[in-house]
Amino acid sequence: MEKKTVVVALGGNAILQRGQKGSFEEQLENVQRACEQLAQMVLSERWRLVITHGNGPQVGNILLQQEAAKEIVPPMPMDACGAQTQGLIGYMIQQTLHNILDREGRGDIPIATVVTQVLVDKGDPAFQNPTKPVGPFYTEEEAKRLRVEKGWHIVEDAGRGWRRVVPSPDPKAIIERDAIRALVENRAIVIASGGGGIPVVRENGRLRGVEAVIDKDLAGQRLAVDVGADVFLILTDVEKVMLNYGKPDETPLDRMTLSEARRYLAEGHFRKGSMEPKVRAAVRFVEAGGERAAIGHLFQAIEVLEGKAGTQIVRDG
Ligand code: ADP
Ligand code: MG
Repeated sequence: MEKKTVVVALGGNAILQRGQKGSFEEQLENVQRACEQLAQMVLSERWRLVITHGNGPQVGNILLQQEAAKEIVPPMPMDACGAQTQGLIGYMIQQTLHNILDREGRGDIPIATVVTQVLVDKGDPAFQNPTKPVGPFYTEEEAKRLRVEKGWHIVEDAGRGWRRVVPSPDPKAIIERDAIRALVENRAIVIASGGGGIPVVRENGRLRGVEAVIDKDLAGQRLAVDVGADVFLILTDVEKVMLNYGKPDETPLDRMTLSEARRYLAEGHFRKGSMEPKVRAAVRFVEAGGERAAIGHLFQAIEVLEGKAGTQIVRDG
């Protein structure tokens, strides 16, 4: 049987769960659990696997370290911090997945992480309206100083303190697309576009990193189209997408057609920054010709991939 290609987007909880501090051991343990599922996809001999992942907690921790050590070591810009997290998380996944496959007699399967830049548009309206909170909390005085010193946008975050916000522009293209495709065609498991990719703009024909973060599900959709994926699988910490989420009449969905999904998006059922970009990414993937997208719980990955759990997003008709 001809293999199909699946792009799996791993949510933050696959690597670091809420409430955990984020020691290396904790993160490896979570990655182990996620990779046991991913390995099953590969071992079934039915799927070519491409992985992408979030990096919110990891980049947050790097920003905290930089803040604490800024008198000793010069802080790096956000694009460089994003690159660090791609290396860290890619390493954990590469090693863990290799060890599992090797245990099952398939240590021969190549696995590679690609440090990935994602092109964004300098004219993206997100640059006029930064919304994504990153890094440590500050006092009001620190916030005022940083605004002047660094030109940062800093807002009050739900009474918890002051926090930097950065733009979250729409991903336009994956710079390393051809390199990723070459690896996939040569039967490698590829980890790419981690944390939504490193945001770059093109200026006078040259690429330059920018202070922004890209949503990992929207970037994952670009990756899925670029590798010609049949299925785009978004694994998170809820079993299904819900209508009227958090209300007494909330309703889990087994399946949405494209037109239903577009209508629910317009009706505002999905929270911005969490479920909304997942559904939007799923819609874009199927619109672009993908067979099916699915959103579900990490611990039911195989069932969600097989269409037996989670929420399936399919064409109309
Ligand atoms: P990830 O790290 O996997 O991207 P997010 O926190 O960004 O995780 O998104 C998953 C979260 O989306 C869930 O934990 C849930 O609280 C939230 N959410 C918002 N709207 C909905 C909805 N309509 N149905 C289900 N979950 C929703
Ligand atoms: Mg998210």
